[in-house]
Amino acid sequence: MGFTPTGRHLVAGDWIEGEDFFSSAPAQGPVHRFSIGTSALVNRACETAEDAFWHFGYSKRSERAAFLRLLAEEIEVRGEAITAIGSQETGLPAARLQGERARTTGQLRLFADHIEEGFYLDRRTDGALPDRQPVPRPEIRMMQRPIGPVAVFGASNFPLAFSTAGGDTAAALAAGCPVVVKGHSAHPGTGEIVAHAVDAAIGRSGVHPGVFSLIQGNNREIGQAIVQHPRIKAVGFTGSLAGGRALFDLCAARPEPIPFFGELGSVNPMFLLPQALKARPEALAQGWAASLTMGAGQFCTNPGIAIVVDGRDADRFTAAAGEALGKVAPQTMLSDGIARSYHEGQARMAERNAVRAVLATPMSGRDVSPSLFETSSERFIADHAMGEEVFGPLGLVVRASSVEDMEHLARAFAGQLTATIHMEPSDLAAARRLLPILERKAGRVLVNGFPTGVEVADAMVHGGPYPASTNFGATSVGTLSIRRFLRPVAYQNLPRDLLPEDLDG
Ligand code: NAP
Repeated sequence: MGFTPTGRHLVAGDWIEGEDFFSSAPAQGPVHRFSIGTSALVNRACETAEDAFWHFGYSKRSERAAFLRLLAEEIEVRGEAITAIGSQETGLPAARLQGERARTTGQLRLFADHIEEGFYLDRRTDGALPDRQPVPRPEIRMMQRPIGPVAVFGASNFPLAFSTAGGDTAAALAAGCPVVVKGHSAHPGTGEIVAHAVDAAIGRSGVHPGVFSLIQGNNREIGQAIVQHPRIKAVGFTGSLAGGRALFDLCAARPEPIPFFGELGSVNPMFLLPQALKARPEALAQGWAASLTMGAGQFCTNPGIAIVVDGRDADRFTAAAGEALGKVAPQTMLSDGIARSYHEGQARMAERNAVRAVLATPMSGRDVSPSLFETSSERFIADHAMGEEVFGPLGLVVRASSVEDMEHLARAFAGQLTATIHMEPSDLAAARRLLPILERKAGRVLVNGFPTGVEVADAMVHGGPYPASTNFGATSVGTLSIRRFLRPVAYQNLPRDLLPEDLDG
């Protein structure tokens, strides 16, 4: 099934063509023309989202669950066409996009089941104590309520699972919040076809059309107008540190500041403890190389830094990693801009005196090869820029002088999405000392695994202290992500007939 984008915005059920246009820049296949949003359209989308909230925010959980399931079906109906245009726009292989689609529909169905169970409402009751002295206690009931219209910004590296109907949109809709999506300019056609799926699900379920709008564009003004619109009550963002920080600051500077849930970059350090490094340096190196180059390294959970204790085992590990990475064929990056940033990041690393290049293949254009560098812990700690994310298949080995030095290094890291320990049972004492430090740094701590591949589940945390995220108390993956778009309301002494339906029991 072929799909040719109309290039229009979807605003509360209407497909609208703009006056100004931008052209897509696909990795392969035809270029298409897309409308650029305006502040008038942003206003219309946000006002209709507010209108929709008065219905959707008070709808039965079963109705919202049915809508989410219909949306999953409508995405599946368009499955092949989504893969085709997604692959053209992003250069990602078909198999990767099929997997991502399954993750996206699985997420919608998981959230539907989750809200039907009702635990997420976190209902609490303090019974009345009319005879309490010196003052009686009234009955107090509490539950979580949706916060209102939510703005969503997708990421270029997950055109389905972190985009138009991805995690943030699914979480907001599950909570009862209408969504205004700023379409990502790197995959506008993929965004549009998914918006068609949302439109069809709205039609079939009968929910208010204002629950979803997609505004396309390739300029900063649209995103800025959305986050500053007074009807928007929270923002879900997945993307770069620079973009996320700019929008976060705008949210904080509003007359009414709103929460900005930004999932930003991370270098995801891996600590290879001495006995593990001694027992399996080659296997660790090969596993790392595979994780580092998955999707051309364009994963926020890409483990960019491996920390080892200096010595012969470290030499074997580094040589094996260089060899494994050297065998990886060039891969196409998601956009020209991301490829350019990778080239610049690689060049910056190569220029540092404190760094030795193990593998640095000369390259240009959108097809890139992996790079590997190494340095000492002392030099790493002295140069903060070495700890910044280079988005792409770039690895840095940091050689510590001892296990104690590894702990010292761990303390120097900024906030991370993940931190990994590779260990043998005989490394337990060292791992026990490292764990409390890593817990303070990362949203997810792993042992003997690689952080790429984030399970969508109840216990998953995809977040972490800044700059991994702008809100360390939240996750953007898993059922707990719904919580971001809720706020607790206490109902004191309300007669039973007045209580919201979900509390009446
Ligand atoms: P991006 O360049 O920040 O773009 C994300 C979205 O925000 C786009 O729609 C973009 O608009 C918009 N935007 C960016 N800066 C803006 C600004 N100053 N004002 C208004 N709008 C702005 O990110 P990306 O290239 O898509 O994603 C790659 C980055 O995301 C990597 O650094 C990666 O590590 C990170 N990432 C993080 C996670 C996570 O969960 N932590 C997951 C995936 C990716 P345009 O479309 O007009 O450019």
